[in-house]
Amino acid sequence: MPDTAASAAPTPATRLGAVRARIAAAAVAAGRDPAGITLVAVSKTQPAAAVAALADLGQQDFGENYLQEALPKIDALRARGLIWHYIGQLQSNKTRPVAEQFDWVHTVDRIRLVERLAAQRPFHAPPLNVCVQVKLGDETTKGGADPAELPALLAAVAAAPRLRLRGLMALPPEETDPARQRRWFAELAAHAAAARRAHPGLDTLSMGMSGDLEAAVTEGTTMLRIGTALFGERIQSKA
Ligand SMILES: *Cc1c(COP(=O)(O)O)cnc(C)c1O
Repeated sequence: MPDTAASAAPTPATRLGAVRARIAAAAVAAGRDPAGITLVAVSKTQPAAAVAALADLGQQDFGENYLQEALPKIDALRARGLIWHYIGQLQSNKTRPVAEQFDWVHTVDRIRLVERLAAQRPFHAPPLNVCVQVKLGDETTKGGADPAELPALLAAVAAAPRLRLRGLMALPPEETDPARQRRWFAELAAHAAAARRAHPGLDTLSMGMSGDLEAAVTEGTTMLRIGTALFGERIQSKA
């Protein structure tokens, strides 16, 4: 392999630097302060060593989709004090480890989950930060609450003990056209603006991934969930 190619091979440091540069450029273009945007590194299918490598570079927030692989990683890296976000679809019978081991959950989309997470969050832990997932478009497979259900669901989270309502999350239909990406994110931002009338403390918009982070920044994201751009292509793409 020629030297140029070898020196250009991406490392965790170059990938993280490139993602931070993309976020900063998009924020500047949108007249936003990049400090208002949290980068969640989506480490699904990545080994604990890959998480540790990014943590060594100062990355603090990590997102996981599958409990079976997330729990051993959380355990192995516990001494580092990382912030763990559960971003996978949540089954009612699997809420306990989320309530016990995570700092955030982004995928609450029904009352049953609110009740269980509140009952299962340990008393010695700080409140579990909750984003309600909103279904945009007709993609029924990804989960998310119907926008019409939002007022009741947000009220339930806000009233629940041990939970802290933070905001809204969406996983919109995949689009390559930036204008179309922006339309979905603008729709979620509008839902958040409406929700803020009843919940003024709502401060989080969890939207934007590797392929559409610029559009999400333009439309006001406060939390980007980035996997591929930080870790490279996933070997087994489970989601
Ligand atoms: C996998 C995943 C991401 C990250 O996607 P990339 O395209 O790899 O950046 C973000 N959010 C959710 C909910 C995911 O499942």
